[in-house]
Amino acid sequence: MAQPLCLPPGSDIRLADFDADFHEGLDKEAGKTETRRLWEELDDLAYRLYAEARRAVVVVLQGIDAAGKDGTIRMLARGISPQCLDVVSFKAPSQLELAHDFLWRVHKSMPGHGRIGIFNRSHYEDVIVVRVRKLVSEPVWRSRYDQINAFEKLLTDGGLTIVKCFLHISKDEQRERLEERLRDPHKQWKLGPADLDDRRHWDSFEQAYDDALTKCNTEHAPWHIVPANRKWYRDLVVARLVRQTLERLDPRFPPYDPTLITSLE
Ligand code: AMP
Ligand code: MG
Repeated sequence: MAQPLCLPPGSDIRLADFDADFHEGLDKEAGKTETRRLWEELDDLAYRLYAEARRAVVVVLQGIDAAGKDGTIRMLARGISPQCLDVVSFKAPSQLELAHDFLWRVHKSMPGHGRIGIFNRSHYEDVIVVRVRKLVSEPVWRSRYDQINAFEKLLTDGGLTIVKCFLHISKDEQRERLEERLRDPHKQWKLGPADLDDRRHWDSFEQAYDDALTKCNTEHAPWHIVPANRKWYRDLVVARLVRQTLERLDPRFPPYDPTLITSLE
């Protein structure tokens, strides 16, 4: 029993075909143990990327409310030293941001050389929530898929690796998580009427995601669909993905200069 994490560019991606409960038949304890082991590797790789200071990685987290974006960030930050990380959350745009093109705020938030950025939401909101809530006209959001692909190409050509993760939870799982938040005085603050209203548009969000995942699943920046009904499995999948990405980059410490020590007084 297997489920692909990503599909080849050009494939028609339909979230309904992906099982949000998928977990390879692993049990929770085994999953958590593997994640803890990955943290050690991640910290070492991230530190080498930082020391090398020539390339960067951005992990883009998308998903509907309560899909686990905050929890995934907490997990990565437990594994990786904060000095290597830049965490950015994208909220509804400010007046200043709205006075620019939709990619402006995103471009200037990209991690610099040596760093790993983690995006809690991203430019994908501009073809998701913006489409569902009809914040711009259809020709405007439709033209954004090509613009996003060109933007991501510019970034990857410049030495940035983009790891796009869609955290996939089911409608039932979202209900349970929202209900838990509404009952918990320490969690209710996360929710507003807009979030409950978004749930009423579940099908429109799913359609918008199907299109965004299909149209922006490129060779240079593919989408990964992370089964996220089980938090521990979601953590494991994302930790593995980031580890794989860093391993592929194989960051190196700058060359050692044995003569430098002679100038130590
Ligand atoms: P949260 O992530 O729960 O703090 O909420 C952030 C809110 O900002 C969500 O409801 C997003 O849909 C919204 N948001 C993020 N980016 C945009 C955007 N480009 N346009 C409109 N709303 C956005
Ligand atoms: Mg929210």
